[in-house]
Amino acid sequence: MPLAYIGLGSNLSDPQAQISAALEKLRQLKCCIVTQVSSLYFSRPMGPQDQPDYMNAVVAIETSLSAIELLEQLQEIENMTGRIRKDNRWGARILDLDIILFDQQVINTARLTIPHYGLKQREFVLLPLAEIAPNLFLPDGDSINELASKIAKNGLKIHSKLS
Ligand code: ATP
Ligand code: MG
Ligand code: MG
Repeated sequence: MPLAYIGLGSNLSDPQAQISAALEKLRQLKCCIVTQVSSLYFSRPMGPQDQPDYMNAVVAIETSLSAIELLEQLQEIENMTGRIRKDNRWGARILDLDIILFDQQVINTARLTIPHYGLKQREFVLLPLAEIAPNLFLPDGDSINELASKIAKNGLKIHSKLS
């Protein structure tokens, strides 16, 4: 089965509880098996700074879904969690679930860019990803471990184990 990596983020309404609840919902998806879970990290907001700090994690899932079907499942979980889509990109949110990687697929459509376009610039994605998949390579040949070791931490720190 294809292996996908999902980035989880939250900075509203008890982020730790939101991420734990989202992980539980991912575990309940019939089409998916959560195979790995990173620690929970604290991170500084990207873009607008007048918002709370974030919590982030990355999980690996085996899935029988296509990438676009997986996106639909993730958006349903976001919506169930009460995420309201606003015009201000990178503003505060209860839950963000992004597909970071989907096997070695490269997708560039209106609804889906895979690998996630921000992966190499985001410490809060690279470090949790390197924690669970240090030996992973991107479709362009870059090593996750190498990218993670070079990126500025920007205050990122491990908060706790996620289970
Ligand atoms: P960013 O994309 O910079 O992380 P964001 O996660 O806050 O910002 P969203 O509002 O969650 O952005 O998503 C906007 C749109 O991005 C979604 O409707 C979805 O169609 C699209 N999208 C493109 N590629 C991906 C991906 N790899 N994972 C999740 N959504 C994606
Ligand atoms: Mg995002
Ligand atoms: Mg998103």
